[in-house]
Amino acid sequence: MVNNRAAKITVDLAALQHNFQQVKNYAPDSRVMVVIKANAYGHGMLQVAKSLELADGFAVAQLSEAITLRNNGFDKPISVFQGFASDEQLQLMVQYDLRPAISQSWQIDLLEAHKQRSSIDVWLKINTGMGRLGISPDEVDSCYQRLQNINYINQTGLMMHFANADEPVHSTNQSQIDQFLKLSGLYKAQTSVSNSAAIVSHLLPQQDWVRPGIMLYGASPLLNKTAADLQLKPVMSLQAELIAINDYKKGQAVGYGDSWICPEDMPVGIVNIGYGDGYPRHANAAPVAVNGQRCQLIGRVSMDSIAIDLRGIQTVCGDLVECWGKQISVDEVAACAGTISYELLCHTGGFQL
Ligand SMILES: *Cc1c(COP(=O)(O)O)cnc(C)c1O
Repeated sequence: MVNNRAAKITVDLAALQHNFQQVKNYAPDSRVMVVIKANAYGHGMLQVAKSLELADGFAVAQLSEAITLRNNGFDKPISVFQGFASDEQLQLMVQYDLRPAISQSWQIDLLEAHKQRSSIDVWLKINTGMGRLGISPDEVDSCYQRLQNINYINQTGLMMHFANADEPVHSTNQSQIDQFLKLSGLYKAQTSVSNSAAIVSHLLPQQDWVRPGIMLYGASPLLNKTAADLQLKPVMSLQAELIAINDYKKGQAVGYGDSWICPEDMPVGIVNIGYGDGYPRHANAAPVAVNGQRCQLIGRVSMDSIAIDLRGIQTVCGDLVECWGKQISVDEVAACAGTISYELLCHTGGFQL
């Protein structure tokens, strides 16, 4: 099939491996399950899984992602954050030797009712304050005991997720940790707590498994630090082509809604990428790089093009424009669009890989 999409995505697997090594440096005492849900945040789940040979395990959101990994020969532990919703799905969890997270007591009903000989491991997910998936702290003991009594369950680990780890000093981080340690201290269970933000801020140094996602892909998990501050390298580069250079006069409008009016005679470049390719429509004055020179978006993002300010820029039609990558950090573009790098990476990367 001819791939005629304008946007060109490249994935730097050496940078990915460097970032994995950073996870090991930040969390030397824990095993690492690399989070590769949402097509590895747009980077291509299978190629990411393959290049992270040193990972101790993988984590995905859904059963279907885990089955794809198994069918492609990956035999390390795979945790499935959303667990299962029916006996049929539970059957597949067991068949493919997957490790579901349990966050509702009816999932334990399904486990108890299931007739099974081969064993599995599970995570019991506790809601210590995230308020998304997880059983409430006062139900932990009864759920844990029920899981212990199911003869085909090997290990029941305990996990939780932070709500505000992107701000390491936020008061809820410590209260979540206290809540978790109070409960996990009662059992001899494996533990898993930290996402990227918690890993780089050492919120809980002692735990069995950490769960890095965004830091592997070289974006910053913290609000007040850049990826470079944290020695992370960008993995995805998104480029498109400069397809027109227009010499506009002072007062001419650019794009939908006339939101940019040329303040003087100036060259305006048109680049063939837009929100149809996953470039964020709400990006306002976002930076791009043309031949190593930084310049800025002007006007609104269209479905398949953006306009850029070429004043003082040396370029010709056909040159590649970096929307994010080595020169322009995805975090910076996300900030210009009022969102987070996660969303940008997932949206663009989903198309081509
Ligand atoms: C997505 C996810 C992670 C990874 O989070 P990052 O912020 O990308 O490091 C970890 N744990 C759970 C439960 C998740 O859903």
